[in-house]
Amino acid sequence: MNDRERFLVQPDTKVDLSSTDPGYTGKHENKASTKEEMAELSQRMCDLQGLLYAEGRHALLICLQALDAGGKDGTIVHVFGAMNPLGTRVHAFKVPTEEEAKHDFLWRVHGQTPMRGEVAIFNRSHYEDVLVVRVHNLVPKSVWSKRYDLINEFEKNLAEAGTTILKFFLHISKDEQLRRFKKRLDNPNKNWKVNEADYEERKHWSEYMKAYEEALSRTSVPHAPWFVIPADHKWFRNLTISRIVVETMESLGMKRPPATADIEAIRRKYHSELAKAD
Ligand code: AMP
Ligand code: MG
Repeated sequence: MNDRERFLVQPDTKVDLSSTDPGYTGKHENKASTKEEMAELSQRMCDLQGLLYAEGRHALLICLQALDAGGKDGTIVHVFGAMNPLGTRVHAFKVPTEEEAKHDFLWRVHGQTPMRGEVAIFNRSHYEDVLVVRVHNLVPKSVWSKRYDLINEFEKNLAEAGTTILKFFLHISKDEQLRRFKKRLDNPNKNWKVNEADYEERKHWSEYMKAYEEALSRTSVPHAPWFVIPADHKWFRNLTISRIVVETMESLGMKRPPATADIEAIRRKYHSELAKAD
């Protein structure tokens, strides 16, 4: 079984996050043992993104969701940093602005989706509208409960237009989150990230788990699958996401487009000995 199968949320199954171990590392013991494979995956990811850009037939949308300190930012640097910024875009979804809040919840999302030839990485996403919004009752249940179907419709529309969608839930334990918060306190370079609201949010941990379980259960579909990534170990998280992205991109059967120019004529005209003499 490969990672694309192992960590996939099977469509129409009920997710139980308490039964999936955030500290799982498979047969790997440490970061050092994955270094070589990671370097190889990064190179392949770079090549595949170059191919996706050149071919211009597919778009790739990556959604990263996690609780605070779950590793979204680190994943963007250490996994997707391998891609060429030309043709790659990252968008972080924050608390909706006044204007965004006056529209339907997908309005601000659609404008950020990738066009063909492009990769877009969402740091948080439209899923916040069934996660934080649900946990904090920011809209009534009658409103958020309809959003799972609306999200499925929206993603179906993107898929029909040539978008490959991969959604990752970075699963960390409550203890690991506290350890990461502590590191932010202890490292002056990370002090800017310390936010007391993040500690307060821990009180809602079980409600977040429930909200994630329902979102994962109801919106993992073949054209937009969810993966639950064990994320207590950053190196294992990076390895697993890299493998899934590379395998998925390889399965697209992309081909470099043929030349549109007459290569031989151009060679003769501009690169022959005669041309050099000009
Ligand atoms: P951060 O990712 O730490 O920069 O924080 C962004 C904050 O925006 C998080 O607390 C999210 O829960 C919040 N957020 C993102 N999308 C929404 C949304 N649709 N409604 C309310 N809060 C949101
Ligand atoms: Mg935060």
